[in-house]
Amino acid sequence: MSDTEKKIIIAVDGFSSCGKSTFAKAIAARLGYIFIDTGAMYRAVTLYALEHGAIRSGMVDEEAVVRLLDDITITFRFNPERGASDIYVNGDLVEGKIRTIEVSNCVSRVSAIPQVRRKLVAMQQEMGRRRGVVMDGRDIGTVVFPDAELKLFMTADPAVRAQRRYDELKAKGERVTLEEIERNVRERDKADMSRAVSPLRQADDAIVLDNSHMTVDEQMVWFLDKFKAACASR
Ligand code: C5P
Repeated sequence: MSDTEKKIIIAVDGFSSCGKSTFAKAIAARLGYIFIDTGAMYRAVTLYALEHGAIRSGMVDEEAVVRLLDDITITFRFNPERGASDIYVNGDLVEGKIRTIEVSNCVSRVSAIPQVRRKLVAMQQEMGRRRGVVMDGRDIGTVVFPDAELKLFMTADPAVRAQRRYDELKAKGERVTLEEIERNVRERDKADMSRAVSPLRQADDAIVLDNSHMTVDEQMVWFLDKFKAACASR
């Protein structure tokens, strides 16, 4: 088996709404790797907390969230139409419900709860045990897989990111304003960077990709170069 055939772990971390999932999904499809969107897992727990009374009027009751954790089983099932896995909570498909502004407004507080992180990080480590995964999130290169062979850190201008998320939500028919989205993007950046447990930060050995003015195709060309170098240096 040649070096390039040996499967590795690719960690894709970075700020909210800078196209991490789109990019990670494209990389995984190109390499025949499994794509894991860890943000979807934190969103799924947040949705469950909203639906079970642990978040009321935007107030997160941390103890109530922790009490719910044992009742939550998260699974993924590949959806060939999307070319990615859909997320299920206790067997219910929640993929379409986790990206609302309501979930986005609460997810950073839920993801800062240490017990939530412990549970989801353990699941993520298990999913990547056999390597051959592209995992996107905030702490993949620093906490989940500090030994990942290739670590990317994605960033883009907050205004560009807000516009992208706005277009996405509008296309789905959500009633949102650009100002509301930009506020959410900036607040999540701040909350994700300043939390006590596993804050968002660039791993020392991560390579930065600022995609403010890059298409997905241009990002792919950039990536394949880094991928070859990472495989050759092993
Ligand atoms: O990636 P996405 O924007 O869907 O993530 C939603 C939220 O989940 C982030 O704002 C962050 O609070 C949390 N998250 C996290 N660690 C990860 C992935 C996401 O804390 N690995």
